Amino acid sequence: MFRTQRRISAGLFLLVPAVASLVLASCSHQSKLEKAAFGKTPDGQDVEVYTLRNAAGMEVKIATYGATIASVTVPDRDKKMANVVLGFKDVSGYTAKTNTSYFGASIGRYGNRIGNAKFSIDGKEYHTPANDGPNTLHGGTRGFDKYVWSAKEVSGDNPAVELQIVSPDGDQGFPGMLTDTVRYTLGPDNDLQIDYSAQTDKPTVLNLTNHSYFNLAGAGSGTVLDHRIQLSADKFTPVSETLIPTGELQPVAGTPFDFRSPTRIGEHIEENNQQLKYGKGYDHNFVLNTGGDLKKAAAVVTEPTSGRVLEVFTDQPGIQFYTGNFLDGTNDGIGGKFQHRSALCLETQHFPDSPNHPNFPSTLLKPGEQFHSTTIYKFSAK
Ligand code: BGC
Repeated sequence: MFRTQRRISAGLFLLVPAVASLVLASCSHQSKLEKAAFGKTPDGQDVEVYTLRNAAGMEVKIATYGATIASVTVPDRDKKMANVVLGFKDVSGYTAKTNTSYFGASIGRYGNRIGNAKFSIDGKEYHTPANDGPNTLHGGTRGFDKYVWSAKEVSGDNPAVELQIVSPDGDQGFPGMLTDTVRYTLGPDNDLQIDYSAQTDKPTVLNLTNHSYFNLAGAGSGTVLDHRIQLSADKFTPVSETLIPTGELQPVAGTPFDFRSPTRIGEHIEENNQQLKYGKGYDHNFVLNTGGDLKKAAAVVTEPTSGRVLEVFTDQPGIQFYTGNFLDGTNDGIGGKFQHRSALCLETQHFPDSPNHPNFPSTLLKPGEQFHSTTIYKFSAK
């Protein structure tokens, strides 16, 4: 399964006036991992943030609240660094009641929607909270994004941190005690790898993903409509008005959902198309052609002014392409207000509402099985 974990004994303490920052690992070529305070939750729990740095200067911050990617700082074609994900400077932004957008969070137990907030396993019906009209979204009213996870450093050549949450039997209506482990590893080639592992003690369903909002020109630098995207998908799963898949796999050819060659995101987004109306833009699951091959890019996004490129690799069968249609300027984070369509999400996943669609790849996990899945977000510039 996964490698044996070993706590790295602290080699060096750095006492900076306000923050005691612990240098946990000093790996080869200046890549390293640091831990610092990130504030407290409203109920007084301490939240920490880990900073992963590689020798190329890329820096990723992971908060223990929601096992959240809080920032990703990468160079443009002129080596100018910028943070390319929406986030907040400390945990208070994430726990604020106005934050309903899942910025950078690890989603569980079930990413995306479960139709009519119910599903059956072995003939028994289970009910989950209806927190998105009649449906369950991103695990219910208190999904994994709204917990402080336990965290530990992972030894190895690359800086890595592993976070874990144990969800009791019946949590948000889901059966089985589920242990979900998310490991972030920053590679030397500006590749951020996310490894998900899970086990259950009763048959259950799960769909684990990350909800980062990317803007490759830099968080807070306008809309993403001029970004170009290519998706390795011949089909997508069309949805009903409440964004539940109809069950069909519809060919993208001849529709605004054809991203098989690089296309400007704004090119067709305002077209008179019922699916775009339902999503208020793109908010759809694409059926990946990659067949779970981590060497084949599922998505490639380029931003012309900075030259930054994001490639997404995953072993999952689908990807939710969401253009931040529900961002409305309410949240004020790093880089200013999060305006309408000022970022995009590429949520690698099983298809939405799979428990209610026997023709979709199964999201069932049984006791004794080890769930494992990998997604890589790789950054470059040209
Ligand atoms: C969903 C959107 C939703 C957003 C929440 C996405 O994964 O598909 O419909 O509004 O998450 O921030």
